[in-house]
Amino acid sequence: MPIEVGDDAPATSGFADLTVGVLALQGAFALHQQRLQALGVEAPLVRTPNDLENLDAIVLPGGESTTMSNLLATSGLFDVLGQRLADGLPVFGTCAGMILCAAEVRDGRSDQRGFDLMDISVTRNGYGRQLESFEADVEVTGLAKPFHALFIRAPFVTRVGDGVEILAELDGSAVLLRQQGCTVAAFHPELTNDTRLHRIFIDSFSAR
Ligand code: GLN
Repeated sequence: MPIEVGDDAPATSGFADLTVGVLALQGAFALHQQRLQALGVEAPLVRTPNDLENLDAIVLPGGESTTMSNLLATSGLFDVLGQRLADGLPVFGTCAGMILCAAEVRDGRSDQRGFDLMDISVTRNGYGRQLESFEADVEVTGLAKPFHALFIRAPFVTRVGDGVEILAELDGSAVLLRQQGCTVAAFHPELTNDTRLHRIFIDSFSAR
């Protein structure tokens, strides 16, 4: 069903029974929490393995994927979270979070680890130096109006596997994709107060 919610949509409270954690080791986690809370979702910050209990889904935010990879290891989260994700915990990975979900990462650090959840290849910072940061209106499957997307040293998708659904493209390259319970965005959907992409993520795993 198309979602007609716009920038100025009122907060809804239809998801009060859902808990969507936000990985909060580093990066842009606070605004993800706000967007989820605006939809009426419980959105606890996740910093330790215990924080993974009772989650219906998790957001992996933007930031720096190499740092997040290190902190996931030192916090003891990497293996426990990796198992939960492999068991099907729905995940929304944005920017660095997308890198953590990708099967293949180019221009990463040799010790950088990820969860291998989506059959895509991404190049870190792949939009090039001149375009370190830019904004674009992207057409998204299921949305009546474009989404204003902010790209910050964004990963560039160079390969999309057969089982992956492309929900939005920019200049012919995929920027929003889904494979089963895993949704990823090359950009930062939390930086505007438009909650439609968080809503699309929630709709992907909660039947209502
Ligand atoms: N370039 C960053 C990385 O490699 C991602 C940037 C972002 O999340 N805004 O992790």
